[in-house]
Amino acid sequence: MRPDLFRLGFVVILCGFAGLLAGNILAGLATGLVVCLVWQHRMLKYIGKFLRNGNDQNPPDAPGIVNEIIREIDSLRAHHKRREEKLAGFLSRFEEATDAMPDAVIVMDAYGHVEWANEKASDYLGIRLPRDRGQRFSHIIRQPELLDYLADVDKDSASKSLVISSPADTEISLEIRITRYAESSLLLVAGNVTDIQRANRMRKDFIANASHELRTPITVISGYLEALENEANDLLPEWRQRIKQMRSQTRRMQNLIEDLLKLSRLESSHSANLDTEVDVAELLSVIHSEAQTLSGKQGHIFSLETQPDLLVRGDYDSLYSAFSNIVFNAVQYTPSGGVIRIKWYRAATGACMEVSDSGEGIPAEHIHRVTERFYRVDKGRSREKGGTGLGLAIAKHVMAQHEAELDITSEPGRGTAVKCLIPEHRVV
Ligand code: ADP
Repeated sequence: MRPDLFRLGFVVILCGFAGLLAGNILAGLATGLVVCLVWQHRMLKYIGKFLRNGNDQNPPDAPGIVNEIIREIDSLRAHHKRREEKLAGFLSRFEEATDAMPDAVIVMDAYGHVEWANEKASDYLGIRLPRDRGQRFSHIIRQPELLDYLADVDKDSASKSLVISSPADTEISLEIRITRYAESSLLLVAGNVTDIQRANRMRKDFIANASHELRTPITVISGYLEALENEANDLLPEWRQRIKQMRSQTRRMQNLIEDLLKLSRLESSHSANLDTEVDVAELLSVIHSEAQTLSGKQGHIFSLETQPDLLVRGDYDSLYSAFSNIVFNAVQYTPSGGVIRIKWYRAATGACMEVSDSGEGIPAEHIHRVTERFYRVDKGRSREKGGTGLGLAIAKHVMAQHEAELDITSEPGRGTAVKCLIPEHRVV
């Protein structure tokens, strides 16, 4: 800074002195200032040239403050370059890591345009960069379920994942999740669940086939035992008792097989017609009289309150299985003389079937598990009552099939209430 000021001062004073000698000091000073301005202009041009010439050039030597500015710019440039290299390294490591990921990852903007995708996205979904960058996801992928899932990304249902077969290879099953992040961007993650799906299919097929194979022999055994029971008078007394026991055990096995087959059918529910208009009030009146028969001499007090004009779209047989299991449970787990109420009414979110009883109730720690297959609070008691441990699992499956909810509340010693909440779009 200082040498520049001295230089400027020297030029102006020199020109002023020359002007004084020539008899016009002002003209001399003005000439000095013009010389200084021209010199400054040249220096600025010099800086401009240095800036235009890019990073690779070594900073030239320049006089005074210009030199300082050029050195400062050069050090900033070097710093920027180091940061750029660091970021590029980080980005390439990130890309290597995402390419090594076993899942396909796709980043989209708010309108579903593909911004970035890893290598697996090409194997699983056929989305390849740079070819598909900027393309609309719905223009590349044609699977309606996946597009519907993408359209519903902001709804509650999006918290569930979607399992589909891969558009790029139908042998591969994919579990897809889409989440919104950073306000508007969309992140799609697709994992390969082919092995899990295959194992699940094998398990379901095994249970369905085993139940089918067992059905006929058990029916035959049960038939012969029934015939023997009818001939009880010709049998020795100890055999009468044994045959009675065998009959009750085969009946249990038959119930179990029927429930297992029902569950298998529900799991492969493509066959179910979920669009039949079901008169639930009528269905419940059938179940109500069956429950009274089941209750027999136990003297349960029943009440049935239904809204007759409240119909829903669904599968009659499945709804019968679900509702009858819930009502028969109320009969089985309520002591003699207890109260059982069956209700069918309009609810805020659709329609509700509610069964409440004044029975033994379910301890809080068991409630969230009673819909699992074969889960019973008291195994011995359930068996003694002829339970299979599958009733509520069937009810839960049927509710899921109808996009409905199963809600169980209970107070040990006071009773249980089971609600089936059927969504509005199923109400006729
Ligand atoms: P189960 O054939 O044993 O009745 P479920 O799946 O129908 O099988 O029910 C599972 C378990 O939930 C039962 O074993 C029982 O312990 C409990 N449970 C179900 N309904 C009731 C109820 N209304 N009151 C008390 N306990 C119940």
